[in-house]
Amino acid sequence: MAEPKSDIEIARAATKRPIAEVAERLGIPAEAVIPYGRDKAKIDGAFLAGLKDRPDGRLILVTAVNPTPAGEGKSTTTVGLGDALVRIGKRAAICLREPSLGPCFGQKGGATGGGRAQVVPMEDINLHFTGDFHAITAAHNLLAAMIDNHVYWGNAARIDTRRIVWRRVLDMNDRALRDIVTALGGPANGYPREAGFDITVASEVMAILCLARDLDDLETRLGEIVVAYRTDRTPVFARDIGATGAMAVLLKDAMLPNLVQTIENNPALVHGGPFANIAHGCNSVIATRAALKLADYVVTEAGFGADLGAEKFFDIKCRQAGLKPAACVIVATVRSAKMNGGVAKEDLAAEDVAAVRRGAVNLGRHIENVRAFGVPVIVAINHFGTDTPAEIAALQDFAAVQGAEAVLCRHWAEGSAGATELATKVAALADGGTARFQPLYADELPLIEKIETVVKRIYRGAAVTVERGVIGQLADFEARGYRRLPVCMAKTPYSFSADPALLGAPEGFGVHVREVRLSAGAGFVVALCGEVLTMPGLPRRPAAERIRLDGEGRIEGLF
Ligand code: ADP
Repeated sequence: MAEPKSDIEIARAATKRPIAEVAERLGIPAEAVIPYGRDKAKIDGAFLAGLKDRPDGRLILVTAVNPTPAGEGKSTTTVGLGDALVRIGKRAAICLREPSLGPCFGQKGGATGGGRAQVVPMEDINLHFTGDFHAITAAHNLLAAMIDNHVYWGNAARIDTRRIVWRRVLDMNDRALRDIVTALGGPANGYPREAGFDITVASEVMAILCLARDLDDLETRLGEIVVAYRTDRTPVFARDIGATGAMAVLLKDAMLPNLVQTIENNPALVHGGPFANIAHGCNSVIATRAALKLADYVVTEAGFGADLGAEKFFDIKCRQAGLKPAACVIVATVRSAKMNGGVAKEDLAAEDVAAVRRGAVNLGRHIENVRAFGVPVIVAINHFGTDTPAEIAALQDFAAVQGAEAVLCRHWAEGSAGATELATKVAALADGGTARFQPLYADELPLIEKIETVVKRIYRGAAVTVERGVIGQLADFEARGYRRLPVCMAKTPYSFSADPALLGAPEGFGVHVREVRLSAGAGFVVALCGEVLTMPGLPRRPAAERIRLDGEGRIEGLF
């Protein structure tokens, strides 16, 4: 048989171990494993609750330089590093986000790693998996239905139907549903109003599920969701219309972390997947906490580059959950350095050491930024076939000048064997006890100053400007008791600035906050800087046109 080449071929060729055996590697007893089919399981809630007095393992964040069309490989590196830690004899677990189903039919590849560093069963994980996203969709839309129903039956909460802010969701890329009118067809169907759909990963219910500590916390947070405003602008909460108990019921199983395995049969918890723009972009707190109780080293990832992903991981997730990361891996590639240095995607195959040096400033800024949180950094150079020794050396030399080690890794091509040096150095860094984690800003800082702090200290912008009304809205949030919340920045991932074309390490630019939104249940205030799409569309030739079942019922064309 020919050597498997594509991600899906490699994933399919993997010899999977029974999921109970994978669980056993983390000391999870058979009775705490709730199987979902053959190769997926959820972990029992009572078992997890019983772990609370165990000491925590060391938390390692995998983040990256600003993404480029060349692809950086964060998930791939998260999996490769986890496998390599096991290979060098450590008890390690991997925590990843669950992929969204919608984009799989557009043009995006899977989100389960790549090459010889993947989690399996990849088709399941990328599609319906254990039904968590379907449950979130149902819980979200139940609330939407109950809001319209509340208005229909007399509107006791005095909702201003022009100010209903709770939209509907679907895990599908469907631009036709972005802005719609509901309740057409006469009085029996309710009050017509403008409404719309977002993709499920943009739901506040998703962010809540990922930040909730337990079922009680889940229900409290669901109740805090602001669904609408009255004519006097006071908020109406989900609890005011009696939705939270039923929503929690729909989410009960979705709250349990999912266990799968890497192609090297090591345990991975894949749970929750909030958007990284209008939400915080990390897997669930429940999964991360569970992994920390079960393993000595936990490798997890955050969405986008470190300016968005790591900042939110630290300032939102770690702040809320009381997590203390021990080390951070920044994934960099020769190709992304070249693109940041001005090389076009078509020309990436040609050696260009000068461009690597020019573009490495992007990496340099991320190294400085992560250190500002008190977390020690190591750089993982994810090796691509076209990289030349001189280019790799240029990137390593640049990192060395920043006082950071840059380790070349070949886990995509070789699996764990290609990342043992990285694993050894990451473990030593995490064990070194040098981390002094602290969030970037204090809870007490006014909301606008939190936004300014992120823009100035992380993005290195010169000034923040705001749309009319934003300052008043922030003052209103603060007056209602939300001053202590962190901010969740929604801006382009491609640049430190709000302009996707400004690559490298720009400074002196302005950032304009167009809109602010309160996610009171999730516990953050979203600052939208630039256009942010919460319902993607499909491309001219969607991947769906090529996806089919082969004669044996296997999926073709997915990746
Ligand atoms: P990210 O998490 O940064 O979005 P992924 O880890 O999901 O990136 O990888 C994106 C794609 O790039 C995957 O299809 C993966 O197979 C591919 N990829 C990652 N690393 C390499 C590499 N070193 N060489 C070739 N392809 C790679």
